[in-house]
Amino acid sequence: MPVSPDESPTLIDQINALLPQTQCGQCSFQGCRPYAEAIASGIADINQCPPGGDEGIRDLAALLSVSPKPLNTKFGQHKPPSVAFIVEEDCIGCTKCIAACPVDAILGASKFMHTVIASECTGCELCIVPCPVDCIVMKPAPPNNAEVSRRQKSAQAKRRYDARSLRKEKEETEKAERARKKKQALLKMQSVKKM
Ligand code: SF4
Ligand code: SF4
Ligand code: SF4
Repeated sequence: MPVSPDESPTLIDQINALLPQTQCGQCSFQGCRPYAEAIASGIADINQCPPGGDEGIRDLAALLSVSPKPLNTKFGQHKPPSVAFIVEEDCIGCTKCIAACPVDAILGASKFMHTVIASECTGCELCIVPCPVDCIVMKPAPPNNAEVSRRQKSAQAKRRYDARSLRKEKEETEKAERARKKKQALLKMQSVKKM
């Protein structure tokens, strides 16, 4: 079926689709899409994403019909695929890592030990700093994870990130609605007391 002009991906969408979707922020933007927006508007260069490395830069250069260039290491070094691992006996179940993970790759509940779903972990390292007991370490990605193609990995990470963002948005809306109702009830009580 032909794609109507309205449904065709924008340049930002096309750039975003070539980014690793780890949302790590090393490019100096708050995630992959903001970096895609900055590239599309000419604010950012194509060589600021360490996780994407040279392959990612080549893809961006081809899309934008410009020459590839080396990664700007001011933004970090390209590393081999890795996943987070929680030293479970040290975990105090504070849930801070869950809050930090952009792709919901950590399982656990308050006061219980947490664990990383290695197949979903993008290796973004965003869970490391918030852990108050330093019980999260990075390990080389298991062979079955490392073999998944770069494109497949970024598509999977994007699906999980989008799903998480939607859930967060819904939670915020529900929280605001509860606060609004509580305020309304309080105002009603106050007006009844004044009568
Ligand atoms: S994966 Fe690349 S584009 Fe995405 S946030 Fe990290 S550095 Fe930026
Ligand atoms: S578990 Fe940690 S390293 Fe893995 S995706 Fe989540 S935040 Fe990133
Ligand atoms: S941040 Fe560290 S201590 Fe807290 S739940 Fe996660 S792994 Fe456990």
